[in-house]
Amino acid sequence: MKLSELYGKNRVVFSLEVFPPNKSFSVDTVYAACDKLAELKPDYFSVTYGAGGSKPGSSTCDIASYIMKNCGTEAMAHLTCINNTASDIDAALELFKAHGIENILALRGDRIPDVQPKTDFIYASDLTSYIISKGDFDVAGACYPETHAEAESSVADILNLKKKQDSGASHLISQLFFDNSCFYEFREKAAIAGINVPISAGIMPVTNKRQIERMVTVCGASLPPKFAKMMQRYESKPEALRDAGIAYATDQIVDLISNDVDGIHLYTMNNPYVAFKIHDAIHKLL
Ligand code: FAD
Repeated sequence: MKLSELYGKNRVVFSLEVFPPNKSFSVDTVYAACDKLAELKPDYFSVTYGAGGSKPGSSTCDIASYIMKNCGTEAMAHLTCINNTASDIDAALELFKAHGIENILALRGDRIPDVQPKTDFIYASDLTSYIISKGDFDVAGACYPETHAEAESSVADILNLKKKQDSGASHLISQLFFDNSCFYEFREKAAIAGINVPISAGIMPVTNKRQIERMVTVCGASLPPKFAKMMQRYESKPEALRDAGIAYATDQIVDLISNDVDGIHLYTMNNPYVAFKIHDAIHKLL
């Protein structure tokens, strides 16, 4: 099923993001998390694509395929182009097709220091139009309520996002943010620029201090005073911090739904406990 068909039906599309294993945990842990998360009956899962590749049996494709076969849920595979040639992309698309995966989040990917980027695709929109030209896939794109770090300006970033839509992206998923007003302003500017595809809001429940620091550095997310105060108060109490992070994310989601968001995309960090707590609080609102 093409995921773009889910949107625009007078309800909020609810999706969950998981990531493939790294050195510190096995693929079985990811599969166990997916089995548990599937009980929440999300509209779909999305599976990230690692910059450094993955071991056989634990790739984005393997996990997306597991979800579709064993969890009875649609899965969208992320795919980046910065370190892939056109023939690498062809091979990935063949593999996705062979596994029945028809939804892809097309991304440029982050630059890796000291690694020379490949040049077949410069921007995500180049990858988007290439995948669309193959005819077999529904393609989504990423967007940045607080502007992508490399963009010349917020206006330039939005005009570039319009190119992504024009290349065939059928829906968008946002970078995480902690201040809903950034999302609302972005959504308004995007609409003015003619971006009319559905936009899911990316929500990251923050559950430990290290994670917050990483999010601010990597994603450039601004921390509203309410959030900063809460995190400061509980930084030395891990369980209280986790519960505060869950409460904050829940509050964000309730506000987003009240403001007619198209979808909620939860960055689960492969943590069913947190996703269950949030889902318990919001599932009647979806
Ligand atoms: P692009 O859309 O290509 O944008 C990159 C920069 O180029 C922006 O500054 C943009 O304004 C500019 N730009 C775009 N088009 C043009 C143009 N035509 N002319 C001039 N400038 C242009 N990374 C991973 O490695 N794996 C993942 O699985 C992954 N999943 C993600 C999921 C989501 C929802 C999000 C928001 C990000 C994800 N990322 C992932 C991170 C992403 O790869 C980085 O943020 C990357 O730096 C940009 O990717 P992009 O697809 O948004 O790039």
